[in-house]
Amino acid sequence: MLERTLAIIKPDGVRSRIIGEIIRRYEQGGMTPIAIRSTQLTKEQAEAFYHVHREQPFFGDLTSFMSSGPIVVLALEGEGAILRHRELMGATDPAMAADGTIRKAFGTSIDCNVVHGSDAPDTADKEITFFFKNTDLCAIT
Ligand code: GDP
Repeated sequence: MLERTLAIIKPDGVRSRIIGEIIRRYEQGGMTPIAIRSTQLTKEQAEAFYHVHREQPFFGDLTSFMSSGPIVVLALEGEGAILRHRELMGATDPAMAADGTIRKAFGTSIDCNVVHGSDAPDTADKEITFFFKNTDLCAIT
């Protein structure tokens, strides 16, 4: 099924100058970026985006990190894009991520794990809407 998912290149990925490398992996993995922009979240915006984790002990660290520098957000489109993107990302903890995944290659800790990806169709819709207007989404395939 043709799906859309939200990807974020987190502040560590931008600082490491691997934006291009990550987008290359998305394209070679069969996904098309249909919207891309860079931004920097405020702490409040990061808290809103990760609202589901507000009770977790790592919420403060997560939202401080996510607002610590520029990020690149992408809406990706492709067959089974949500799962496909999760496969390319690898496990949340880079130490547990499979060989060949983005987090295994570039992640340095569970906090600095380079990328975010939606985990289900309803969250993908909500997360894409968090960053993009409908008119920003431009299917080019
Ligand atoms: P993801 O979908 O793989 O990004 O994982 P989650 O949605 O469960 O968590 C969001 C982000 O919170 C992850 O990417 C991690 O950076 C962070 N995180 C999740 N679980 C933990 C944890 O147990 N400890 C810490 N320090 N951070 C965590």
